[in-house]
Amino acid sequence: MIKLYDTKQRRKVELEPIHEGEVRMYVCGPTVYNRIHIGNARTFISFDTIRRYLQWRGYKVTFVQNITDVDDKIINKANEAGVEPAAVASEYTELFIADMDRAAVMPPDIRPRATEEIDSMISMVERLIDTGHAYEAEGDVYFSVRSYPGYGALSGRDVDEMESGHRELQAEGLGLEDRKLDPLDFAVWKAAKPGEPSWDSPWGPGRPGWHIECSVMAEKYLGLPFDIHGGGSDLIFPHHENERAQSEAACGCTFAKYWMHSGMLQINAEKMSKSLGNFRLLHEVLDQTRPEALRMLMLQTHYRSPLDFSEERLAEADVALSRMEQAVKTIDWLCQTAQEGSEAVLDADRLEALAADLRNGFQQSMDDDFNAPAALGFLFSYVSELNGLLGNRSIGAGDVENLQAAKAVLVELTGVLGIDLEAGAEDGDDYPAEVLALAQNLIGFAGDRPDEAVNALLDARTAARKAKDWAQADGIRDGLAQLGLVVEDTPQGQRIKR
Ligand code: AMP
Ligand code: ZN
Repeated sequence: MIKLYDTKQRRKVELEPIHEGEVRMYVCGPTVYNRIHIGNARTFISFDTIRRYLQWRGYKVTFVQNITDVDDKIINKANEAGVEPAAVASEYTELFIADMDRAAVMPPDIRPRATEEIDSMISMVERLIDTGHAYEAEGDVYFSVRSYPGYGALSGRDVDEMESGHRELQAEGLGLEDRKLDPLDFAVWKAAKPGEPSWDSPWGPGRPGWHIECSVMAEKYLGLPFDIHGGGSDLIFPHHENERAQSEAACGCTFAKYWMHSGMLQINAEKMSKSLGNFRLLHEVLDQTRPEALRMLMLQTHYRSPLDFSEERLAEADVALSRMEQAVKTIDWLCQTAQEGSEAVLDADRLEALAADLRNGFQQSMDDDFNAPAALGFLFSYVSELNGLLGNRSIGAGDVENLQAAKAVLVELTGVLGIDLEAGAEDGDDYPAEVLALAQNLIGFAGDRPDEAVNALLDARTAARKAKDWAQADGIRDGLAQLGLVVEDTPQGQRIKR
């Protein structure tokens, strides 16, 4: 039985999916005006881990994540750069997808983009107006918060208290848009301002409000109700409260059965955010650290707790990861060097019992609201036990099968957490050293790590293609091909094949 913490009920509850054997989840995606930081990545990695675990437990998971590609921040960025908002959005959408791929976050099953779903949003706004839950005011449309009795239940807020808070602000001349009938109401459709992207609607040209986007995309791609709605805890209010209110008002049914929220990644006890300027971009961190180490760091804190990021903790996570990788390498080496025909020297029953304990502990931990730190605890104890059992001795050919099975459990369960213990063995560190010279010639790369050179070349190729600098883009591809590294363009971004 899997238990998860439901934000709305404020307790752990048993996961009972609406459709047997299936879990349908929606996790709010990014607003694409910037590269994502490791705080954003924490939320996406948390839900990626939850998704992988549910799959491992046998559920068919349908995972939907939107791209918010129309927003004030995108428009501002476009105005600063003197380009179209759509160009900003498409550039950062591609970079987001590439960053997630590099962080080994599985792509969603469906990735709708807000600007491609405007018709459905207009229909939903019409539905809200028809049912008396929304009203038009000079080209804007507002959701009437008082028309939906459940408002505040998700975030634990009292509507009357909120109202008096608004009245105080209002008395100070703050916080009220006069087109609203009630200060609590929020926009589901915004009249276009000059120079902004807009779409025709029954209320004149305009664009959707942020909350309505997710309401529409979740309903369209998952059906209502669906099982799990997720996001960072900073989205509980107002975003998720508003999504829920308008969706439940429009359909007269439950929107999401469970609400899950991941805790904030912090730096010096302060939330990492673009506006505070205390952020570290994911791709920059991944230029210095392997993705598995960053994931290890994330997993070491429960997904609902705040996570304090520091370079030291990241370095420690890297060391912890290496301990696991080393165990795998040791086993491989022992198996390769076992004398043909030699007798088994290891206690097979003990190996089997250790693996069974690991499986139990891992599953119990993850069943209990996805307690990855506890699950990691079992994995590390297992590695210590194995190391103790193996010591410095060589093994017999008769041990190989048992030892391979012992390794397989470790690789499988870390894989469920999104860490590929054999990643380093397959690719990454062992690119030919010649890529350093290639990267230096083509893009002035000054580092000394072949894997970083390859990443830098791939980034430069993306930039060159965007700038329509085909000579540079092709030069990079051909140069890599001469070293036996074939660049493949996939929907998830570029990938190197040997
Ligand atoms: P945004 O593009 O700002 O809407 O953020 C995308 C996702 O990242 C949302 O689910 C946010 O809740 C999440 N997020 C933003 N900042 C942090 C942080 N410091 N720690 C964890 N998640 C965050
Ligand atoms: Zn959302």
